[in-house]
Amino acid sequence: MITIKPDFYKNFKCIADKCTDSCCVGWEIIVDSETSEKYEDIKGDFGEKIRMNLVKDEDNEICFKLDEKERCPFLNKNNLCDIIINCGEDALCSICTEHPRFYNDFQKVIECGLGLCCEEVCRLLLETDKPLKYITENEDEVFTEQPIDKELYENYTGLYNIREELFEVLNSDKDFDDKILLLKAIIEQAVNEKIVLDSDSAILSGYEKTEPINEEWTEYFYSLKDNINDYLKKEKPFDEATNGNKIYSKILSYIIFRHLSNSAYSNNEGLKDYFNFCVSAVRFIKLCDIKIYCETNTLTLKDRIENVKRWSKQIEYSDLNVELLIFGE
Ligand code: SF4
Repeated sequence: MITIKPDFYKNFKCIADKCTDSCCVGWEIIVDSETSEKYEDIKGDFGEKIRMNLVKDEDNEICFKLDEKERCPFLNKNNLCDIIINCGEDALCSICTEHPRFYNDFQKVIECGLGLCCEEVCRLLLETDKPLKYITENEDEVFTEQPIDKELYENYTGLYNIREELFEVLNSDKDFDDKILLLKAIIEQAVNEKIVLDSDSAILSGYEKTEPINEEWTEYFYSLKDNINDYLKKEKPFDEATNGNKIYSKILSYIIFRHLSNSAYSNNEGLKDYFNFCVSAVRFIKLCDIKIYCETNTLTLKDRIENVKRWSKQIEYSDLNVELLIFGE
């Protein structure tokens, strides 16, 4: 199998108790059937504790019973995992083993990445403004069998070539706004129609309709939307002070990497909508950065990480919200 990964993939290691935002809080953690069967055989009090904390959700899937603060019952007060401590990493369910990795399967090619909901992943992405590169492994592999879904694979290879053109523009020294125009022209040529990217107010209206992940998101969102005109007045000094051209290019490259090729699953029909989704995401993240700059007169790496992570959790980690923003449903 050919695999494609971002260049920082190999550097990822969960920072565990040093993370300010454990991924074991606030999410439903579904336990795959193979692991839940293994949990039946764990002996002693700890095995009993595991079994007592398995429940079924509304879709009848087995998951851990979160506590009243939505913490995983095995996340201890030092923010370390008691399952790993008592039974070793092999006892983790597949979600806990894999998180925050993601895989997009295009038959002969699997694209692997690390989700931006994790602050350590954001740090790896944002710590330098060196252009993002993608590493292809097993490129010379010879396939003796046809892919099961030939159409998906063909859609993907067409998109792959378009995406390479987009990455080339993003890695160039051009101004970010000029890059967006060039990227738009590439997509227009691919879909053979003119496209209109969402304005700031269209982006905010779209995001307003998304299902909020928590109350913090709602409060944050309105503090941005209600003051947007004041923030936009500071965009020019913000640009001059923070010089985000390369960083926004990098973020856009990575969001394109994760999302644009998914239009292969819908026969590439939604390509322009996927593209608009990616560009709007980076614009939204930039608006959040401008907000911080207006409030504090500076923008630190920590601020950038927080803004990317907040976007990722609210938007790309909700299939519902991604579909709403791309397909309007
Ligand atoms: S969010 Fe990332 S760094 Fe934090 S606990 Fe989860 S995987 Fe580890």
